[in-house]
Amino acid sequence: MAAVAAVPVAATELGVFATEVAGCTKCRLAQGRTQVVFGVGDPSADLMFVGEAPGYHEDQQGKPFVGQAGKLLDNLLAGIGLQRDQVYVANVLKCRPPGNRDPQPDEIEACESHLFRQISLIEPKVVATLGNFATKLLSGKPTGITRVHGAEQETRLGGRRVLLYPLYHPAAALYTPAMLKVLEEDFSRLPTLLGRAVEEPKPMLGTLVPEPAVQLGLF
Ligand code: URA
Repeated sequence: MAAVAAVPVAATELGVFATEVAGCTKCRLAQGRTQVVFGVGDPSADLMFVGEAPGYHEDQQGKPFVGQAGKLLDNLLAGIGLQRDQVYVANVLKCRPPGNRDPQPDEIEACESHLFRQISLIEPKVVATLGNFATKLLSGKPTGITRVHGAEQETRLGGRRVLLYPLYHPAAALYTPAMLKVLEEDFSRLPTLLGRAVEEPKPMLGTLVPEPAVQLGLF
């Protein structure tokens, strides 16, 4: 069978959207950034990770999770047999907050439509949030990561049903062995979750077609 040629990311609708977002000036972070850090990976991945915001190295290189936390993310992925180019990785904020401070509510509000559009274009089955900011934004609830990590939630994102799967942020696990162990355990459930990710409900019409009575064994 002939191999199917991969569509270059730049040619996809996601690539076109990335070019648009590269010029975003919706909040104050546009002034201090080196560049917008849009996201990387498979534009039609079943599994998408959402972190907090770019740090120094991400801002320099234009890619999310390229520092120490990113190395840990790659190791965790390898532990479940995946490489970064098989998933999609993005952040809540696309620009680096100065001094790596926490994202401010107005910055999240200005940036969130970029993330929701990304999700609607990628159409992931599972969205794994890394840390508190992504978890609170995408769950729409104020409950912190300590209480919800490792417990999948069915929700609607970007107009579609997805499994939201909150995880500890890799940066938090870097120097805390107990947290790393929990993160590894939570990661180990991802293949199962991908296997039983929520499907859009089938249209009711098909199920309404009456079966022949004989076939139903009624007579
Ligand atoms: N932390 C994040 O949340 N995102 C990155 O891209 C890097 C570190």
